[in-house]
Amino acid sequence: MPTAPVGPLRAGVTVTDAPGYVEYTPGTAPLVLIAPHGGTQSPAALTDRSCSGCTTVNDLNTQELARAIAAAFAARTGHAPHLVVNRLHRRKFDGNRERAEAVGSNRMLDTTWLWFHAALDSARARVTAQQGRGLVIDLHGHAHEVPRLELGYLIDDAELRLANSALEAAGALTRSSVARLATDSRVATDRGAGILRGSNSLGALLVAAGYASVPSPADPAPLAGQAYFTGGYNTQRHGSLSGGTLDAIQIEAHQNGVRDSEASRTRFAAALAEALQVYLARHYGWTPAP
Ligand SMILES: [Zn+2]
Repeated sequence: MPTAPVGPLRAGVTVTDAPGYVEYTPGTAPLVLIAPHGGTQSPAALTDRSCSGCTTVNDLNTQELARAIAAAFAARTGHAPHLVVNRLHRRKFDGNRERAEAVGSNRMLDTTWLWFHAALDSARARVTAQQGRGLVIDLHGHAHEVPRLELGYLIDDAELRLANSALEAAGALTRSSVARLATDSRVATDRGAGILRGSNSLGALLVAAGYASVPSPADPAPLAGQAYFTGGYNTQRHGSLSGGTLDAIQIEAHQNGVRDSEASRTRFAAALAEALQVYLARHYGWTPAP
C-alpha cells in the first residue's frame, strides 16, 4: 500500500490512503488545515488503541468545524486551504502523535500514519513552491474551565507569563512553532513576542471578532494553575521549529458558541477565515490573486 499520496495531485480533488482512513484535499492558499481528532469511522476490524495513558476521546465536531473553516476561507478569498483530515475515531488512530502512540498496537495503521504525515509534507511543499511561506493550523477542541480559544505555539504557560523581553531572552520564540515568522514577519514591530500577543497576533484578531483567546493582548498568558494546551506533534513537526518554511499554530477551541452547533461552527468559521486572511496578508504579504 502506498505510504504517501499518489499523484498527480490536483487542487480540490480529494485523495485518501488505501483504506480511506485519512484524506488530503490540495488547495491553492498558503494555508494548511489539519483535523486530527474529529474522525467518526470506527471499523470493527481495527482493535482499539491500547497504549497506556493515551487519550482516546475525540475533540467533538472538529472535523465538521475544519470543513466549515476551509469552505469559509475559500468563499472569502477564492483560494481553498489544503485540508488534511483523519476520518478515524481517536480510539483507533491519533492524528497528532508520533507513530507508536498514534496507532497503539494496530501496526496495520503504520501505513496510514505515514500517509497522513506525507500528505502534510506534500501540502507544505506545494505552499513552499507556490507562495514561499505559509501557515499550518492544527485544529482541536478542549474542555478546560475557561471558555476561550487556546492558541498553541509550543511555549508553555510559565514562559508566556514572562514579560516580552524576558520571554525573548529565554529563547522561547526560537523553540516555538512560529520560530521563522518571529524573525521575518512583514510587520517588523511584531517580530519576537509580538507574534504571540501583539496587535496583529492571531489572538488579537480573534478577540476583535468576539472570541476570547489566549495568548492575546487582552489575555497575554494563562494564569498559574489554569489548564492550557501548548501544542503537540503536528505543531512540532509541521511548523518552523526545525527550519520549515511554514509556521504552525494549534487552535484549541472551546465548545459553546464555537463548535457546539452548526450555527456556532458557521459563525466561528467565518470569523476565523477572515482573521486568517488578515493574518496571512499582514505577516506573510499574501493577497489572493483575483
Ligand atoms: Zn485534540
